[in-house]
Amino acid sequence: MDVSSEIYKDLSHMVGKERVSESNLDRLLYSHDLAPLPKEMSLAFKTIPDIVVKPRDAIDVSRIMKYAVENDIPVIPRGGATWAFGGAVPAFGGIVLDIGSMQEILDVNKENLFVTVEPGINWKKLYDTLLSKDLLIGAYPSSAPGASVGGWVNTGGVGVGSYKYGGIDQLIRSLEVVLSDGTIITTGCKNVLNNSSGYNLTDLFIGSEGTLGIITKVTLKVFPAPEEIRPTSFVFRDLEEAGEAIHALTRTNITPYHIAFLDGAHYDLLRELDKDSPKIGAMVNITFSGDTRIIDIQDKTTEKIMAEYGGKKTTKEFADHEWDERFFESKARRLGPGLIVGESFCPLSKIVDMSKRSQGVLKKLKMKGAVVGTVADPNTALFMTYAISNEHKLIKNMASMALVKKLADEAFKVGGRPGGFGLLFSGNLKKIHGKGVFVMDDIKSALDPHYIMNPGKLIESTTRFGIPIPGFAMAAGMNILAFMKRMMPADKIGMKNHGTKKKNE
Ligand SMILES: Cc1cc2nc3c(=O)[nH]c(=O)nc-3n(C[C@H](O)[C@H](O)[C@H](O)COP(=O)(O)OP(=O)(O)OC[C@H]3O[C@@H](n4cnc5c(N)ncnc54)[C@H](O)[C@@H]3O)c2cc1C
Repeated sequence: MDVSSEIYKDLSHMVGKERVSESNLDRLLYSHDLAPLPKEMSLAFKTIPDIVVKPRDAIDVSRIMKYAVENDIPVIPRGGATWAFGGAVPAFGGIVLDIGSMQEILDVNKENLFVTVEPGINWKKLYDTLLSKDLLIGAYPSSAPGASVGGWVNTGGVGVGSYKYGGIDQLIRSLEVVLSDGTIITTGCKNVLNNSSGYNLTDLFIGSEGTLGIITKVTLKVFPAPEEIRPTSFVFRDLEEAGEAIHALTRTNITPYHIAFLDGAHYDLLRELDKDSPKIGAMVNITFSGDTRIIDIQDKTTEKIMAEYGGKKTTKEFADHEWDERFFESKARRLGPGLIVGESFCPLSKIVDMSKRSQGVLKKLKMKGAVVGTVADPNTALFMTYAISNEHKLIKNMASMALVKKLADEAFKVGGRPGGFGLLFSGNLKKIHGKGVFVMDDIKSALDPHYIMNPGKLIESTTRFGIPIPGFAMAAGMNILAFMKRMMPADKIGMKNHGTKKKNE
C-alpha cells in the first residue's frame, strides 16, 4: 500500500501542513526504534512509514483514525521509541503517529492526589515537575528521560519505584483512548478506584503495544513527596551472594522504594568509558523513601541483612552517584554502536538461578554484556540483561538477536516469562497464554475489525506480504541464529584497544 500525495494533502488539510511529513529523511528516522534491527529487515517488513503525523489532541487522532479506516491505512503510535522490540516500527508502512507532540500536564490535583497528562510527556519531566510541587510519581522506567507515559502504559512495565508502588498497571486511574474507528472513550474513573464497575477496560489497554487503541490522556495516582529519598549501595563478591541477600530482604516487611542489582560485567563495560567505574563482583542498590526516622530503622536492618550475605555498604557519595545513574543504565551502548536487551520476569525465589542462566547465555553466545535488573515486587525480579552489538555488521548483528530468544527460554525454565513482544517475539505470547491468545485475537478483531492498529505485532508477527510468521518458525529461526552466533568469533566490542571508545567520543 503506497500513501499517495492525495493522502498527504488530505491529512495536511485535517491537522495542518506543519504536522504532516512525507520527506524521505523523516520517514527514515521513523523506521526504527531502539531495537537493533538491521535495515535489511525491510525485506520482510515495510519498516519505513509512508507518512508521519504529529497530532495536537484526541480530536486530531480521532479524525486520522476515521480516515485511516476509510482508506485502509495502518496506524502505528509512537512515543519516545526507547523500547527495544520494534513496537513503534511499522510492519506494513502506513502512518506513524508521533504522540510526542502531545505532552501537556493537564491537571495536578493535590486534594485527591492524581495528575492527568497527555501521553507524549516523558517520565523525567513529569517526575521533576511533580516533585517541585511536593508530589511523587509512584514508579517510572529507568529510560525516563526519553520514554513517554503512553509508551510505558502500552508496554505494561515495571521500573524505578515499583517495589513500593507497583508497576504502571497499579498507578493508572483512568485513560482516554481513541479506538480504531475514531470513537473516543474514557476508561476507569479519575477520582476513585475502578473496582466493582464491570469489565476493567483500563487493564485491557495496559501492555497492548498500541494494537487496540491510541492513548490520548492518562490519569495517574500521585503520592505526597517523601521527607527523604535515601539511596544505599552494597558491593558483593558475585551475583549469587547478591541474589541471596535480595531474597532474604524481600522476605521481611521492609519496603524499600527501589531495589536494583547489577553484575560486575556492567561495571567492567562502564570502565571502558570511565576509568573510575569500580571493579566489583556485583552491586545491589537499595533506595528508601519516606520519613527519615523510619528510613533510619529500615536502613540499619537492611545493612545487617546484606552483611549476612557478604554485602559491604559503600559510601553515601557512591550510593548517590548510583542513584543518579539510574537514568543511564544503557550507557555502555556507546561501546556498540548498538544494544540488545532481553527483558524477562522470574520468580524471586529463582533470582540466583536466573542470574547464572543469564550470564551463561551471554557466555555461550560469546557476547559482551551484563546482567542487570530490578525487583518488581516480593514475588518477581525483572532481568534486563543486555549485550553490546554492532548494527553495522549485518550477519553478526542479526545472529545477536538470538540473545532475546535464549534469555526468554531460560525465563520459562525457571517458571518466569519474557516481557515484550513487538515485531519479532509474538510466538512467546502463545507460549505464555496458550488458548488465551485466541481470546486476545477475538478482542483485537472486535476493537480493530479493519486490522489497522499497529498491525503485524504482538498477537501474530506478520510480514509486509501479509504472511504470518508462526511462533515455531520464528523460534526455529532464532535457534539457527543462536547456533551461527556460537560459531562466530567472540565479540570484542567494548574491549580495550578496540578503538571504539575513541571513535565514539
Ligand atoms: C536504558 C533503558 C532503560 C529501560 N528501563 C525500563 C524499565 O525500567 N522498565 C521498563 O518497563 N522498560 C524499560 N525500558 C524499555 C522502554 O524504555 C519502556 O518500555 C518505555 O516505557 C517505552 O516508552 P516509549 O515512549 O519509548 O515507547 P515506544 O518505544 O515509542 O513505544 C512502545 C510501544 O507502545 C506503543 N505506543 C506508544 N505510545 C502509544 C500511545 N500513546 N498509544 C498507544 N500505543 C502507544 C508503540 O506503538 C509501541 O508498541 C528501558 C529501555 C532502555 C533503553
